[in-house]
Amino acid sequence: KTDLSGEAVELAAKTAKHPCYSFEAHQKFARMHLPVAPVCNISCNYCNRKYDCVNESRPGVTSSVLTPEEALAKFTRVKAELPQLSVVGIAGPGDALANWRAVRKSIELIKAAAPDTIFCLSTNGLMLPRYAPEIVELGIRHVTVTVNCLEPAIGASIYHHVHYQGNYYVGESAANILINNQLTGIERLAANGVLVKVNTVMIKAINGSHIPEVVKAVKERGAALSNIMPLIPAPGSVFRHFPQTSRKEVEALRDLCQSELPQMRHCQQCRADAIGLLNEDQSYKFRDAKKELPG
Ligand code: SF4
Ligand code: SF4
Repeated sequence: KTDLSGEAVELAAKTAKHPCYSFEAHQKFARMHLPVAPVCNISCNYCNRKYDCVNESRPGVTSSVLTPEEALAKFTRVKAELPQLSVVGIAGPGDALANWRAVRKSIELIKAAAPDTIFCLSTNGLMLPRYAPEIVELGIRHVTVTVNCLEPAIGASIYHHVHYQGNYYVGESAANILINNQLTGIERLAANGVLVKVNTVMIKAINGSHIPEVVKAVKERGAALSNIMPLIPAPGSVFRHFPQTSRKEVEALRDLCQSELPQMRHCQQCRADAIGLLNEDQSYKFRDAKKELPG
């Protein structure tokens, strides 16, 4: 009992100013996503690379990609207009860790300009074992990893391929590498005090009944929150003809998994360039920052 309340208190302290992790904070604090990560190192069958990474972002119009310097300029501009901005997140349009140099540089620049900023990033987890030490060292305390399954046989139906250490993998061998790296990565981050949220895309016919096991396994590795998301069949993706998972089905699964891990129920699956309070995106005000930069 003491342990549980201790964990809950710790979770509340870590998330107090993060609108995505704290229900109380989501009306008071704003976040911005910086689209500095164009490349992806895997291929999910629910993804259409014309859109932002589906693992964290709602399929929408592709956001224009920024260099680290442009990201700093955009941050400075947004911060001046939105003083309640507390969080800078990297959520695509590809995978944060497949673009690590640019992501790292962007965070370093913003940290130097505004040391109080809270940073978070989302990833498919392939490169987590490699970059977990740098993530910790950079002071990133919130990471979202998308874990859809634990078994390579299921993964072979969800992922088309994985690019890893210069090689191209498909089928179960691709899924096996990805799943192992996701779980190892989560464990390393959590062991170093990072708050790990796990996103899971519910693709009813493929992983629907398997998701409770996923939630249990990531909890055992130290994840603190689970976010079960509906499949949105993106045009042009392999799963484009799949039925969209209904809210009701997702809610039922969340209810089932709630006893294992707290469920995030107010995630908006924001665009990779989302800005503002969670429920009032203001990114349209800040588009084309590139063109407005001097020089
Ligand atoms: Fe698309 Fe998957 Fe890569 Fe995200 S991780 S950009 S959904 S292939
Ligand atoms: Fe927060 Fe979810 Fe939006 Fe990311 S996608 S900023 S976690 S609400």
